[in-house]
Formats: sequence, structure tokens, C-alpha cells
Amino acid sequence: MGRPFPRRILAYAACLAATVAAVGGCSSDNGPATTARSTGTSPTAPTTPTTPTTPTTPGPPPAVGVPPMPGWAPVADGPAPFTRPPGGAVTVARVPGGRRVVIARRDGSRLAEAELDRSDVYRSVRYFDRRGRLRLVVDRLDAAPALATARTAVAAAQGCRDARNPTGAPWGAFPINWRLNARSVPRRLPRAGVVRAAQDARAAWGANRNRCGVPDASRVAFRYRGATRLPVGRNGVSSIGFGSVAAMGGVCRGALACTFTWVLGGRGIESDTRLDARPARPYSLAGGRADRTDLASVIVHETGHTLGFAHVYDPSNVMYPWLIAGTTSHRRLGLGDARENNGRY
Ligand SMILES: [Zn+2]
Repeated sequence: MGRPFPRRILAYAACLAATVAAVGGCSSDNGPATTARSTGTSPTAPTTPTTPTTPTTPGPPPAVGVPPMPGWAPVADGPAPFTRPPGGAVTVARVPGGRRVVIARRDGSRLAEAELDRSDVYRSVRYFDRRGRLRLVVDRLDAAPALATARTAVAAAQGCRDARNPTGAPWGAFPINWRLNARSVPRRLPRAGVVRAAQDARAAWGANRNRCGVPDASRVAFRYRGATRLPVGRNGVSSIGFGSVAAMGGVCRGALACTFTWVLGGRGIESDTRLDARPARPYSLAGGRADRTDLASVIVHETGHTLGFAHVYDPSNVMYPWLIAGTTSHRRLGLGDARENNGRY
């Protein structure tokens, strides 16, 4: 696979510069452990080059009755602390699945908005520039609690319900080129198998493979471009890698996977996914075992985030925020996923 040398160096330099710039905004972060559903992520120190250094120390909640968002680890052009700026304002509203918290700057412009689920876990956040344009979206996926698995698995595998939530920015150009952070792949997983699983997962959207008979009219396409060592962060390279998701902090803490998608001029421009290197249920490439996490299904969901789709609280769609163990039904899209994939692209 091609790896254009000068482009890589340029991207890395941009990454370093952006990281330096970002550290000032991230180092005063905050983050008590939330009630996040643990996926067994080890609290130990980072072990891969993609793992950010220390997240976070506690800070004030954005509003009374709203828990503080865990602080973020430094990420190039990454999220700011989710706190009310001086002179700013916070509004909280009930939405399907929980609550939405919106933070405004002193001048009234929207700084960020985040969704809390009914357990008060932050599930996603969107940041906006000073002109109110979407700049960055961070979304997560969780392992479904064991007790919910059997009941929800049936709904996940059998239903065709039209639930949609396209709140991120669409991409303007295809294919979306992406790379694998090959050095971060856990030793027990064959890299070739990981690439294949990821390509299949990307193709679920690209070919609109679904369980509900929706024909493919989507322009979406992805192209794998080989390995990278670039970490999560805006650096010109969209990537998938493994590492400690917990160490990323923010809305990622406690998740099975987390995706950062950058937006410019209303269009997606880069998207990086971190998969937890040590999930409570180890990854499987074959799928279908209740004690394993189906890697392809995880990447299908995260690819939906890359494409600008947010969560829907219907388990028959892959944008359901919990991954059901023991099934591979989410390797193919549900009715809402597939229709919106056509409608948007
Ligand atoms: Zn998600």
C-alpha cells in the first residue's frame, strides 16, 4: 500500500503543531470517573503510540444538576473542556434517550452540546466554531450490559424500524481514504484480519448492505490506504487504531470505541476511531459468540459516526449505542440506517 513520504511528514508536522496548540486548552481539564458502563478497560498506563497521555483532573459541572464531563486527554485540534465559559450560558433539555446540554459563549454563540443518557453518562458531544458552524463531533459505542443482551439481541436481529438521527456533517467527496494504526493492533489479532473486518464494515455503508431490502443508492465509498502511526487527532489522515479508550477521557471514558470527526465548511474532512485494546469481552473476527466482541460490528457503528450519523434508540439499527454480544446482525444496516444512508448520500 502506498505511503507517500512527504505527505506523511507534512501531516505529522501539522499534528505536532496542533498538539502543542491544543495542550494549553486541554491541560486544565477535569474528570471524575462517571458511572460509565465499564468495558473492563485497564486503568493502567498507555501502551501504544496512539494512546494519549493523562486525561484530566476534576472541574466544575456545566450547570446545577448536570454531572461534569470527564476531562479530555490532549488531542490535536481536539475538544475543549465542557464547562461554561465566563459570561456564557448553559441550557438543559430532555431529549429521547436522556438530556441535551448546550453551552453558549458570552456572545451567545454555541460552543458545544452534549447528550447524557438516562444514567447520566455522556454519550456524544459536538463543538462549534465562533460562527456557529460544526467543527468536531465525538461519539462512542458501549458494550450492552449482560442482562440486556438476550432480550435486545432478538430486537436487534429481527426488526426493521425506521429510526434516524443525522446530526453530524455529511462528507462531500468520496472515497474516504483511511489508514490502520497497525502498530496499535493487539498481538492476538491478525492485522490482515483486522483490515478485512474494517473493510467489510466500511462496505456495509458503501454498498448499503442491510437486512431490510433497501436498495443501494448511496454514494458512500471508503478506500484503505495502508498503515499509519499517526494518533487520533486532526492530522490529515483518517484512521482506525487500538488503545485505551478510557485514557481519552471526555465522552470516551468507559466506552468500547470512540470516534472523532472533524468538520470544515459543513463537510466531514477527517475521522479517527479508537477501539479499546482490552475490551471485557475480547474481540472476535468470526463473531457470533456471546463472550466475544464482534470487531466488524463495532466498526460498522463507528463508521456510521464517521459519516455523520448519531445514535438512535432502536436496537434494530446499527446506530443503537450499545453493541449486543453474541450476534453479527449489526454487520448489516437496519432500515433507518440504510434509508438515511441513501437519503443523505
Ligand atoms: Zn456510538
